[in-house]
Amino acid sequence: MVATLAVPRVELPERIARLNDLAFNLWWTWHRSARALFRELNPVLWDVVEHNPVLFLHRLDPARLDAAAQNPRFLSSYDEIVAEFDTMVSSRDGETWVGRNRPELADRRVAYFSAEFGLHRALPIYSGGLGVLAGDHAKEASDLGLPLVGVSLLYRQGYLRQRIDSGGWQHDVPAALDPRAEPTTQVFRDDGEEVFIEVDLENGSIPLRLAVWKVQVGRVPIYLLDSDVEGNPSWTRALASRLYGGDREHRLRQEIVLGIGGVRLLRALGIEPAYWHANEGHAALHLLERVREQVAAGSTFDEAAATVRANTVFTTHTPVPAGHDVFVPEMMDRYFSAYWPQLGLNRERFLALGRHAESGNAFNFTALSLRLAGHANGVSEKHGDVSREMWHGLWPDRPESEVPIISITNGVHLRTWISSPLARLYDRYLPRDWRERPDHASVWDTILNIPDEEFWAAHLQSKHALIDELDERARRRYTEGQFDAWQVLSSGPFQNAGALTLGFARRFATYKRATLLFSDIERLARIVNNPDFPVQIIFAGKAHPADEDGKRLIQEIYTRARDSRLGGRIAFAEDYEMGLASLLVAGVDVWLNNPRYPMEASGTSGMKAAANGVPNCSILDGWWIEGYEPGDRNGWGISPSSREGEAQDEEEANAIYETLEQRVVPLYYDRGPDGLPHAWIALAKEAIRTVAPRFSARRMLIEYIDRLYARAAGVEQASAGRRAGDKRF
Ligand SMILES: *Cc1c(COP(=O)(O)O)cnc(C)c1O
Repeated sequence: MVATLAVPRVELPERIARLNDLAFNLWWTWHRSARALFRELNPVLWDVVEHNPVLFLHRLDPARLDAAAQNPRFLSSYDEIVAEFDTMVSSRDGETWVGRNRPELADRRVAYFSAEFGLHRALPIYSGGLGVLAGDHAKEASDLGLPLVGVSLLYRQGYLRQRIDSGGWQHDVPAALDPRAEPTTQVFRDDGEEVFIEVDLENGSIPLRLAVWKVQVGRVPIYLLDSDVEGNPSWTRALASRLYGGDREHRLRQEIVLGIGGVRLLRALGIEPAYWHANEGHAALHLLERVREQVAAGSTFDEAAATVRANTVFTTHTPVPAGHDVFVPEMMDRYFSAYWPQLGLNRERFLALGRHAESGNAFNFTALSLRLAGHANGVSEKHGDVSREMWHGLWPDRPESEVPIISITNGVHLRTWISSPLARLYDRYLPRDWRERPDHASVWDTILNIPDEEFWAAHLQSKHALIDELDERARRRYTEGQFDAWQVLSSGPFQNAGALTLGFARRFATYKRATLLFSDIERLARIVNNPDFPVQIIFAGKAHPADEDGKRLIQEIYTRARDSRLGGRIAFAEDYEMGLASLLVAGVDVWLNNPRYPMEASGTSGMKAAANGVPNCSILDGWWIEGYEPGDRNGWGISPSSREGEAQDEEEANAIYETLEQRVVPLYYDRGPDGLPHAWIALAKEAIRTVAPRFSARRMLIEYIDRLYARAAGVEQASAGRRAGDKRF
């Protein structure tokens, strides 16, 4: 048996010692009052430590803690929050949503494998949308009381901080992650020894030991494998060091650690999942490891594969070919020729598991996942269609429409993403239990009760918070001696809260076409420089460290930001991460997205924006095909052009200019005698009303439960009967 011992915690006055428990459970990331409690102890330090409560408690002046322990007002909030926390931690089945509504799943654990989890800016073990989605999935599982256990990797050089030089070029500065300064605890055995998991690389020639860390997310534990362990060859220690860093071989090694190491980790901790969920092909090797276990216990490959298939869910996330992991057969030989005999396979049958016509003779991990996971989905309706077409070759005997990949559209964890000013308004005007029923349309219909004046004041508060942060970042970088005057200008400190502000922030993958808006500079200049109706645009996003094309796009925007024709109205904010994302999705006026159709599998940042009353202006691709209400009732939808390449770009750029000129700008500046844009506010409220419930992580997770998890857990019948009469939107 295994026990988790906390690393030495911070010495705290007895009366407020439970701050340690609050700090080490990421529950605080979506409980505003818990965050406010930390902040109150020292607001300046709270920002300095980037809202990391563990680091915060370590650095806090003990005198402040002593004062807080004597302060009746502080103590009363403290007691209230600790009580709420304890209720959450100790809740029994009958008190959770799953316990009441899907009791057959309440004692069946699901293991959720993901190469990244985006939980909070303080724990940088994610790179973008895929990780943030996994984080939102885990938080929602906690809210619902779904017994989920996450498995991932600890990235010690967790992520790359983006620095843009004066030439506009992105530099990737590794930021060391010290797990002892994070809300993570190492896992030890009862006898006080560290838990180590063993895997080997290159057919046994490189044995590895992996340490195990745990992050607690409300009721949900996530275990992280760590290869930086004494005794491992020095180069392997850096293995889990950098998210998606290095070459293909590095990637394969990481996926061996995640998939094979992940299964062994759960076994070592005595955790017996009833069913399994692989988030994207990165986790594919966990399927083979489970087959191997059964073959070792006497099954044939086919028997073992059938069992694995029956209780495994697989989610594919991208229609972009480069987004799928493929490895050449020589590499597979080098890592698996001693492994496939343990699966009861020869080389040919093994390699056939990863075959996909479009990947040539390479081994495709999405194909492997689809062959060994019996319950699969794409992440929007359109992406479901695209995936069925893409993977039809695996089911040649079926018509395309019967390829067994369903679609479950992504959603976002609303409590994480709704800004404080709006959440305070929702507390006053929405039903009191809006947080408990975020997927009910009737909850959001009451958005119309909010007076326009208060609604707009809350929005402006979010806008000012964003502008303040951009100012502060520019000031800090300038005083560090890192920025020249041009860079200060480009980073956007001169934004005007009165001007219509567009936001564009996401990874700089080329299909997202970040520079599309610059295709006709003169026209763009007329739009942004209109003296009566000015428009400003804030960009943010990181390019993959190896993606020179993506870096060139950033450089182009950075250069444009200095182009005097554009009047200083274009900004590029460095270092896009979840903290900046929260400020942007609530603080701009319009969320812009112009991917090349149909490459955007879903997209989630637009959902976050809409839930904050920031309408989308977007190509009709991914989730927006489902979210957009024709007639521009909740945002603006731009139909993809039927042409290709440059002609397509040009036509769509023109459509965006026209939409901005004729529909977006006039509506924003159409003010009543009270100075408020009433028609705009009506549209913003409609964005919240129509998007928040349908694109909530609550709706998403219940769909996973009813359409995939119940089947994978083998309790489909019980769940199916309950679906009728449970209409939510
Ligand atoms: C939500 C989010 C994303 C995903 O954005 P898309 O719209 O899916 O491109 C990426 N990065 C961060 C930091 C996010 O918060």
